[in-house]
Amino acid sequence: MDLHCHTVVSDGTLAPTALVELAAQSGLAAVAITDHDHVGALDEARAAGERLDVEVVPGIELSVTHAIGDVHVLGYLFDPREPRLVAALERFREARASRGVRIVERLQELGVDVTVEDVARQLGAATRAVGRPHVARALVEKRIVGSIQEAFERWLGEGRPAYVEKAKIDARAALALIHGAGGVAALAHPGLLAEKGRVALVRELAALGLDGIEVEYPRHSREDRRAFAALADELGLVRTGGSDFHGENKPDVALGTGVNRNVRVPYATLDALRTRRESARR
Ligand code: AMP
Ligand code: FE
Ligand code: FE
Ligand code: ZN
Repeated sequence: MDLHCHTVVSDGTLAPTALVELAAQSGLAAVAITDHDHVGALDEARAAGERLDVEVVPGIELSVTHAIGDVHVLGYLFDPREPRLVAALERFREARASRGVRIVERLQELGVDVTVEDVARQLGAATRAVGRPHVARALVEKRIVGSIQEAFERWLGEGRPAYVEKAKIDARAALALIHGAGGVAALAHPGLLAEKGRVALVRELAALGLDGIEVEYPRHSREDRRAFAALADELGLVRTGGSDFHGENKPDVALGTGVNRNVRVPYATLDALRTRRESARR
């Protein structure tokens, strides 16, 4: 199973159908598609899932403001048509679009030969959630950099010259959106956060009603996993996990298994999330 992956609807490179086909080929019983700020992959993915006998779970990845840095919250098992959630996602995508333009302007000021059209070409459809990976791909295509990684290191990463902050909501609002749509919320990749303060962050989110934390994750060390599993148990949170598959945008990450098979998420995790949702009865 995999509870964290991205399609072309955000910054992955596989179409929803292709992702579900890959899941079937990889022998996965279930996948949660967790595109940034977008649930647009779900209907197509579900149709493919029915055909190929892969359970497709509704998911989302939201960006949350916090002093510690870039905090991502995953939502699962919610109603993707719930009006407040739908409206909020639309706002986030509009903010992403104008931020994309600002990033391009910043690059142009820095003398980089890239246009809004170059980035738009990476998107395929105007309604998709624009992110830095699309800008990075445009820079690769124009041979301004040799790789997506280099685009982040030279221009787009935090603290780099063309970095533009993304619109975010606070943690309480993010959890309210997910819970309000009948779902459960899990903290994504806590191991990518600054070591100082991340345990406090998990406690803070748990007090706000967080349901799970991502323990299995490609870039989590063995120590990270042990520490987050213990913290989950202490706080009564579900231990979740996923590969954060992005297709060719993260070529070393395999769907369902991460990097060199370093991620394993049993189906029981999904049952645990369902149980958590039922017991919350929000
Ligand atoms: P955004 O949501 O537009 O700020 O873009 C963040 C996304 O960029 C993450 O979800 C990753 O998919 C990707 N990303 C972040 N840092 C890197 C990096 N160093 N190399 C490649 N992709 C990255
Ligand atoms: Fe991403
Ligand atoms: Fe993330
Ligand atoms: Zn992700």
